Amino acid sequence: MDIHKTIISLREELNQHNHNYYVLDNPTISDFEFDQKLKQLQDLEVKHPEYFDANSPTQRVGGTITKNFQTVVHTNRMYSLDNSYSVEDLQDWEVRLQKVLGNVPLQYTCELKYDGASISITYENGKLTRAVTRGDGLQGDDVTNNIKTIKSIPLQLNGIFPERFDIRGEIILPLAGFEKMNQELIDIGETPYSNPRNTASGSLKLQDSAEVAKRPLDCLLYFIIGNDLPFNSQFEGLEAARKWGFKVPNQSKLANNLEEVIAFINYWDVHRHDLPYETDGVVIKVNDFDHQQELGYTAKSPRWAIAYKFKSEQVTTTLNEITYQVGRTGAITPVANLEPVQLAGTIVKRASLHNADQIEKLDIRVGDEVFVEKGGEIIPKIIGVAKRGSELESTVYITHCPDCNTLLTRKEGEAQHYCPNFYGCPPQIIGRIQHYISRKAMDIEGLGGETVTLLFNNHLLKDYSDLYELTIDQVMPLDRMAQKSAENLVNGIEKSKEVPFERVLFALGIRYVGETVAKKLAKHYKTIDALRNATMMDLILVDEIGDRIAQSVIEFFENENNQRIIERLKSFGVQFEIVEKHNPNATDILKDKVFVVSGVFEKFSRDDLKKAIEDNGGKVGSSISSKTHYVVAGDNMGPAKLEKANQLGVPIISEDDFMDLIG
Ligand code: AMP
Ligand code: ZN
Repeated sequence: MDIHKTIISLREELNQHNHNYYVLDNPTISDFEFDQKLKQLQDLEVKHPEYFDANSPTQRVGGTITKNFQTVVHTNRMYSLDNSYSVEDLQDWEVRLQKVLGNVPLQYTCELKYDGASISITYENGKLTRAVTRGDGLQGDDVTNNIKTIKSIPLQLNGIFPERFDIRGEIILPLAGFEKMNQELIDIGETPYSNPRNTASGSLKLQDSAEVAKRPLDCLLYFIIGNDLPFNSQFEGLEAARKWGFKVPNQSKLANNLEEVIAFINYWDVHRHDLPYETDGVVIKVNDFDHQQELGYTAKSPRWAIAYKFKSEQVTTTLNEITYQVGRTGAITPVANLEPVQLAGTIVKRASLHNADQIEKLDIRVGDEVFVEKGGEIIPKIIGVAKRGSELESTVYITHCPDCNTLLTRKEGEAQHYCPNFYGCPPQIIGRIQHYISRKAMDIEGLGGETVTLLFNNHLLKDYSDLYELTIDQVMPLDRMAQKSAENLVNGIEKSKEVPFERVLFALGIRYVGETVAKKLAKHYKTIDALRNATMMDLILVDEIGDRIAQSVIEFFENENNQRIIERLKSFGVQFEIVEKHNPNATDILKDKVFVVSGVFEKFSRDDLKKAIEDNGGKVGSSISSKTHYVVAGDNMGPAKLEKANQLGVPIISEDDFMDLIG
């Protein structure tokens, strides 16, 4: 048989099996047989790259790395939903509808409100071509490669479908999968994720799609938008989507009046806990498309739909203790330690108390029965005292650091207390080392936060410069270390000597010097010595560096301890200078010209465009002024910028004009 035909038929077969397994929950072959067929297809595709297809089921394993997700303007805006909380709210809504529609009989589609991250997926000729996050509703991030790894999302549709349409849905992490992921984290001593929704939404922005493929994500679809749709109502749309191969939960129901809507709500308010995923309400949509069109949209949401929010769950439990955590910057956070209690599908043991004011406001005392609530937040919160315990006095906030016993400070107008013992307070030191090794900083492979704590507690680290003197023999005896992991750790540290200066500067953990500021400073000063000799005046002349940052930089370099650490890092070979890469395309065509970039571009990402300006000798400014020579404008340029440019007579050019400019 012809190879291409075999490839195509294997793809079709595997697509169908994926659908049976992940959408219908009804597999018809064993996992083993599936893997064999997948392997067969993979082998053929490797041998015959001419038959590559971005939508082949082999592409589901991921493996693409996306450093910067492209911003994409939504073809159709992604709206929010208005909320309602009671039967009265819904009745009011219906009155508003009938005012516009003139008292016609109305049908409503009732759907559950899935609690995850929304996504808009475009299909062209039955193939998935793009998936974009909601972003601000007008534009989001292109996360196509990550989305393709989610097995319940069809890459190729079945049946008869429109040539092009967008479908909207919610990326969720079912509870069982979430718990499994967390158990694995707990097993290796890492902190578990706080809730399924945030984990689902965080997964979409992972840089490595192979990591996304490993997560048990799912996608529930609820809305189709496009021209020439072969149906006239929301409910028919759901049925059509199901036929094309999408996962559309079958709890959705067509209601003939508001009473039926309310019955649906009441039923699911109780039974939602039996579902394998989290929901936070019901979405009610006027069913008929003609009615929808007549009703239209407000600035923020469709008038034809409304969300009914389930009351967030509340439980009571005992407050056992209040403990205090010290962060990397010395900020103190009080934490309520609770008698473990089941709440909205998870066991809650802790709740954040934010700061001293919060404790005072709630007047909570150890031993009290307290109300705990979980809204959408990461950490549950205490909302009040249910029953006073035996404690007669109000809680007295600590005055000294729980770790180093230094007197705490609190600046005028600030809510947080701080431990000022920056160089001697263990959690602050550990926090700084953890920051140093973190992904966006030195990104040291083989070394995690827990190990840093262990190393510190075993007196093997006093600051991050000590990392470079660690030996395999020293780390081997630590808990959970084996020869291999010790080697990885030491190698990882060695490799960090290649990390470019801008990230080293960020890793140092100078207060207020985040990633972007570090980049700016590195670029401007080029070497650490130039930066450390800079005066306050020099610093504030650098674009976007204000008093607060400048002051903090000066203080950092004045400190003898820091000076010593930097000298040590230098002696180990850590990068303290920008290494200028010679770019063969570089010119100085744009020498001395200042550009401001605004909007969204087709051919360039914003960063690429800025790089192209700089590669050709130009400068990139952040705001339009009389010194600006050109504004390069893409789609959706901000109106304020447009006005400013016109006012000052600064020419506005397109990306094509820009390309002409640089030849
Ligand atoms: P909100 O973010 O509270 O404005 O609610 C709107 C969001 O609810 C949408 O962006 C969707 O992500 C989400 N949602 C979940 N389930 C549904 C559903 N069945 N229909 C419409 N939106 C839904
Ligand atoms: Zn302290």
